[in-house]
Amino acid sequence: MARKTGELDLFKEIWAERPHICKECGCHLGYMLAPHFFSHYISKGSEPALRLDKENIDLLCFKHHHQWDHGDRKKMKIYDEDRIAQLKLKAHKQRTTYGYQSE
Ligand SMILES: [Zn+2]
Repeated sequence: MARKTGELDLFKEIWAERPHICKECGCHLGYMLAPHFFSHYISKGSEPALRLDKENIDLLCFKHHHQWDHGDRKKMKIYDEDRIAQLKLKAHKQRTTYGYQSE
């Protein structure tokens, strides 16, 4: 049985709040929400605690989401060591506060 992740609800909130623009190239993403527009800045695999954290989710076009996940992300404009450090720190705090176990 598939476990409800809550991701789609979160995506809907973000879609309602933010301009529908790729954070990397500025292209317009259209009006229809598609899950592939939502990119986890720090992957779910490395920080499960940030999976449903809006600060960890960027709107990206398909091309740049793919580049972020599978290509050379360090060449991208949105790559930011400080942001990565901040998010990792946040995840660490959540783990120590709530005893969140990474899988
Ligand atoms: Zn783009």
